[in-house]
Amino acid sequence: MEAAGNIYNIEPDGLISKDKLDSFNYPTYSPSMEELRELIHENGCFEIARLEEQPRRPILLKKTAEIRAGMESLLTKHFGTDVMEPLFVRYSKKIEARPRPFLTTADDGVAVEETSKFSEEHPMKGGDGPNSYANNSTLQKGTVDAAKELLRKAVAEELDVNVLLSSNTFYIADLGCSVGPNTFIAVENILEAVKFKFQSHGLNSQIPEFQVFFNDHTQNDFNRLFKSLPQARRYYAAGLPGSFYGRLFPNASIHFFYSTYALQWLSRVPKEVVDKNSPAWNKGRIHYSNSTDEVVRAYEAQHAEDMECFLNARAQEIADGGMMVLVIPGRPNTLPHSDSVGNVSFQLIGSCLMDMARKGLVSEEKVDTFNIPVYAMTPQELEASVERNKHFSLKKLETIPHTPVPPTVSPIQLVVSHMRAGFEGIVKQQFGEEILDDLFDLYLKKLEEQPSIIASGTETAIIFLAVLKRKET
Ligand code: SAH
Repeated sequence: MEAAGNIYNIEPDGLISKDKLDSFNYPTYSPSMEELRELIHENGCFEIARLEEQPRRPILLKKTAEIRAGMESLLTKHFGTDVMEPLFVRYSKKIEARPRPFLTTADDGVAVEETSKFSEEHPMKGGDGPNSYANNSTLQKGTVDAAKELLRKAVAEELDVNVLLSSNTFYIADLGCSVGPNTFIAVENILEAVKFKFQSHGLNSQIPEFQVFFNDHTQNDFNRLFKSLPQARRYYAAGLPGSFYGRLFPNASIHFFYSTYALQWLSRVPKEVVDKNSPAWNKGRIHYSNSTDEVVRAYEAQHAEDMECFLNARAQEIADGGMMVLVIPGRPNTLPHSDSVGNVSFQLIGSCLMDMARKGLVSEEKVDTFNIPVYAMTPQELEASVERNKHFSLKKLETIPHTPVPPTVSPIQLVVSHMRAGFEGIVKQQFGEEILDDLFDLYLKKLEEQPSIIASGTETAIIFLAVLKRKET
């Protein structure tokens, strides 16, 4: 090839060995239109509706950085990192030396959509390090396990198999899935329950295929989630980023909504509680528990508004015959806000932060404008939200039995590591990374001084499972 002659005429400079170069090939191929036509024809599954050539334009040469972004990982694997810089410097020079008409560069403005308009984002700690959610979610796993039997019963009693027969695919969404492993266990439990239901109706041959959408905030560690997807799974997996307080799916598209341990997160900190001029300013505390009536009411109102948004969005997205199972950590109906164990934990973390402010380790002003957007609802509150909303009927509302703590770790250490995996992100956002160790050490110390807080867990915190179906319209 005459034109390319210059480009390949490289003066050997010894940076890479000839062997290396000879054994490298780039795995892309540009077929001609005729080749493509023939391939599609031979395959037989598709017919060609249109196959047209685009009007010819001057070749748009990509910037070196763009080429590098696309090719570097493959080149690095073969030649090593060290030669990348000299390679692309050379590439740049060669491009510049080419005749002018080809030197146009692409300048494409990309429109960025706002993804966080429905929620503040506070995903769990990603990765698989010692403080990660993946390694500190055994308490939640206990709940997923304990919910398995209730889930199977709920599916057996409430899933409308006859309606579903018209669809070849069963669509499942786990809302607030985090990074696993719990979400994978939950999904397996759902698959098993649905298959069991089909089998018990003698519909073995009509069991659909499964498509699972793993939903969480855009900042969730989806890479970690996908890397740990079970290899031998029996479903198609997709990630679905965005807040579940807004619309996530097309109309009438999801057969089974599921969520564990996520709906206690409010969409945002109620505005008033961080507003110095509001009577609901939550000075010196980081949560509504044990706070003033105004603060409590602000949180309650935010919770009610969020539930309304959640139910409205799901009402549009749920497919005919579908159902929703929500597993929610909350507090017993008659228990005051300030007595539930989770809320006491937030009071303690708040007092740790105030201690640190007194010592000058964090700014008091930052504590005064910091609040944790988590709300412990009662089963009764959920019932009231569903009733107000009018789109769903509540088919079941059951308390999940507490699972015993694994005996290998001290219960206090377990709680601290779980709280850290869940709340490190939001604390870091406000105060910076450097306070994390001190804060959670202090929290551990305070818990050790009052072990009764953890011991009271079984009476002052409950986890309940709600089964909802859309009302006929
Ligand atoms: N279901 C998992 C994870 C629970 S942790 C389990 O049982 O182990 C709660 C998850 O909910 C977090 O990953 C958090 O990022 C997510 N979450 C909280 N609010 C959310 C929202 N509005 N939209 C989507 N995900 C949310």
